[in-house]
Amino acid sequence: MNEIPEVETMRSVLQRDLVGRRVKLATVTVGKLVKPHKSAKEFRTALEGHAIKEAQRLGRNLVFLLDNGHRLVLNAGSGQILMAATAKVTKPKFTQLVISFDTTGELRVVDPKGDARAYVAKPPVEGEGAEVSKFARLSVGGDGLALRKAINELADVGIDAIEDQIGWDRFAAVMRSRTTPLVEVLTDERIFSGLGDLYADEILFSAGLHPTRSAESLTTIEIRRLHRSFLEIIADAIKHEGTSFEDAPWTDPYGKAGSYQKFVQVFKREGQPCFQCRAPIKRVTSKTHDTYFCEKCQA
Ligand SMILES: [Zn+2]
Repeated sequence: MNEIPEVETMRSVLQRDLVGRRVKLATVTVGKLVKPHKSAKEFRTALEGHAIKEAQRLGRNLVFLLDNGHRLVLNAGSGQILMAATAKVTKPKFTQLVISFDTTGELRVVDPKGDARAYVAKPPVEGEGAEVSKFARLSVGGDGLALRKAINELADVGIDAIEDQIGWDRFAAVMRSRTTPLVEVLTDERIFSGLGDLYADEILFSAGLHPTRSAESLTTIEIRRLHRSFLEIIADAIKHEGTSFEDAPWTDPYGKAGSYQKFVQVFKREGQPCFQCRAPIKRVTSKTHDTYFCEKCQA
């Protein structure tokens, strides 16, 4: 699972270890990974020889600013981004991209399901940038808006809990414009990026709101509570370096697991007692996802 806390954990590790290093070679084994390019060769040519100046993030995308002002974008999808100390370390099955540097070590993109993406984006020509989505335009701070404007492919990435620093009033405008259930609003990638089922469930539990309530029915006090939980849960999960379940063993690029699973209140806890009130955790199933909640705490 690569949601904002996991991708942010990867970003901070890679910011520490990749900045200042120059790409020597990029080896692509599955062309689909670099699909935004005409060919793997085009991708390689755009990347090789350039040094990495900064590691940024927007939603589930890692963005590496290169020394020529272009940006390498990596979206691991459901796969993994791993660092290997040397090229001799055995490559995991489904390794689709290997980037080596002028100093020792390699970055590898491992993508069993084939939903990862890698590309080098040029800054758009003045006046030719893609239109930023109406939700993303609510961004007020951080690097969110600048990244969407710099990378056409990211123009419609939904609101990022960290990078967009959206205040409660703008958050309220989003909620008041949606008649759909809260859990669907939070997991709609066009509106909010990188929350996923786990963090959406935990945010709603923390805010004491029932997941099937319509977003527009919230009172001002409830919206303020939801906004606070939205920021706090994501910040907390970043502090604990993401979530790694036994059946979804996420790790950072060096194989270190996250620890937020120790703090999870409802996600995948159906039938187990709520840590707050002891009532059994419930699950509702929709076409797109399973939602976990406490009937008593989220009445
Ligand atoms: Zn409860």
